[in-house]
Amino acid sequence: MKTHDIIIIGGGHNGLVAACYLAKAGLKTLVLERREIVGGGAVTEGIHPGFRCSTLAHSAGPFSSQIAKDLDLERHGLEIITPEARVLALARDGRSICIYNETAQTIREIEKVSAKDAKSYPEFERSFSRIGKMLAPLLTMMPPAIEHPSPGELWNLGKLGHSFRGLGKKDAYRLLRWGPMAVADLVAEWFETELLRAAVAARGIFGAFAGPWSAGTSTGLLWQAGMDGHAIGPAAFVRGGMGALSEALAQAALNAGAELRTGTDVERIEATEERASKVKLKTGEEISARAIVSNADPRTTFLKLVDPIDLDPNFLLKIRNYRAIGVSAKINLALSGLPIFAGLEGSDGQVAASKLSGRIHIGPDIDYLERAFDAAKYGDYSPAPYMDISIPSLADPALAPAGAHSMSVYVQYAPYKLKNGDWNSRREGFADTVVNKLSDYAPNLKELIVARQIITPLDLEETYGLSGGHICHGEQSLDQFFTFRPIIGWAQYRTPIKGLYLCGAGTHPGGGVTGGPGANAAREIIKDFKSGKA
Ligand SMILES: Cc1cc2nc3c(=O)[nH]c(=O)nc-3n(C[C@H](O)[C@H](O)[C@H](O)COP(=O)(O)OP(=O)(O)OC[C@H]3O[C@@H](n4cnc5c(N)ncnc54)[C@H](O)[C@@H]3O)c2cc1C
Repeated sequence: MKTHDIIIIGGGHNGLVAACYLAKAGLKTLVLERREIVGGGAVTEGIHPGFRCSTLAHSAGPFSSQIAKDLDLERHGLEIITPEARVLALARDGRSICIYNETAQTIREIEKVSAKDAKSYPEFERSFSRIGKMLAPLLTMMPPAIEHPSPGELWNLGKLGHSFRGLGKKDAYRLLRWGPMAVADLVAEWFETELLRAAVAARGIFGAFAGPWSAGTSTGLLWQAGMDGHAIGPAAFVRGGMGALSEALAQAALNAGAELRTGTDVERIEATEERASKVKLKTGEEISARAIVSNADPRTTFLKLVDPIDLDPNFLLKIRNYRAIGVSAKINLALSGLPIFAGLEGSDGQVAASKLSGRIHIGPDIDYLERAFDAAKYGDYSPAPYMDISIPSLADPALAPAGAHSMSVYVQYAPYKLKNGDWNSRREGFADTVVNKLSDYAPNLKELIVARQIITPLDLEETYGLSGGHICHGEQSLDQFFTFRPIIGWAQYRTPIKGLYLCGAGTHPGGGVTGGPGANAAREIIKDFKSGKA
């Protein structure tokens, strides 16, 4: 007797999105999360008494507004905060460029450093916006089957071809050229100012085992444009930190009738007669269901949870070759006050706070970013890393005591595998390097630090369950994208084991706090249930 229609392994935001849609469709859904809190990469945790922080992801991908509407997340407590500033790029000598949501405001900033770049910027923004609109339907589309696309899939591709033609020659040519290009080349075609080039290029390398000179890194900009019409990543914070988004999702899932169990670690997915039939927990308890959906990453799902005997050796080989070697770490700081950043000292306090309220980019030129990557290529962390920082307490003061601040520092590159030593012995040295480098840009930083939380790639694996510490459940390179995600032939959320599905960032449209994989997977699972294929 099956007690549930669906078991979802993992209460990351994608697992929760899937749970909401599945429960709303009337399926009896149970979510099992190994940690004591739901959210996976989208969590808010205490970092020091009185200080809370989005421990991992700090700015949503952005999260799909359609999903937020479908699931009525506002009613369940979600409040997205969108500061005017997207990103403030800082140079060591005190120069800075702030990219705003507002084009005219950004142009005024860029004019201060280059009249030529200020002139190029509006067309850069418009071109990515047009291309983004054309790409956007891809995000909610199930990738077509490569060998035998169904009539529906062919129809969708036809529609896409039609909108590609609608782009016009110039943008269509740009789209075809840009996809495989190194992002360093792309930004050089548009801008002459190194600081601006690096701030824009950063979106192409975020989370990737790649530097700005690596082929294919422009795809990150195109994908970003597909998500929110802009090549440059947004500042999309959540009141209460990213965990508040996960809590709103959990509440919506519960209201729709789903059941959630935290502190529940799944050890095994068991198959009977070639179909997934039950999960076995670390405690030995067994729970059966008509279908099992894994929000864990593909390597965890197929190399740890499934018995290899249930998989074709060829499929297993492809999963073993699926690349998921992380390069990211986090340092979260509890600060007694707001740091003073070089270049902003003279600014009016309100102007400085407004510029700092988006994301802060550290990585002043393309060579700096590439050198940061060089270290990772050879098995070490960057002596001068690329950083993407936010100070969420500026817009959401409840995250820190009055006058104090939480600072979230995303650090790249910190390779999962170190050539010398290991992460446990090198974590403090790594954090010192990060704080020292950041102090070049904010000289009073060290005296403000009350506490620091260090999250290495090994912690990402051990504490947060991310294989290889990869923040996106696997590299988002051209060979692991769209119809190739996670692997060719298996990009439709289904797996070689009947009744076993994937719904996490290792599936299309990939990593980031967007809800896309969870929603797409749920739609396919509901179809299978309705047609009796599940
Ligand atoms: C350091 C860092 C910084 C990031 N920064 C950003 C950012 O600023 N913006 C952005 O949009 N994205 C960012 N990301 C990426 C983003 O957080 C992830 O892509 C996203 O959270 C993936 O969501 P998910 O639900 O697919 O998977 P996850 O969030 O990984 O959730 C999977 C869940 O499954 C659970 N699980 C795994 N195995 C088991 C098991 N055996 N039994 C039970 N439960 C299990 C895990 O505990 C976890 O809760 C960042 C990620 C990291 C790590």
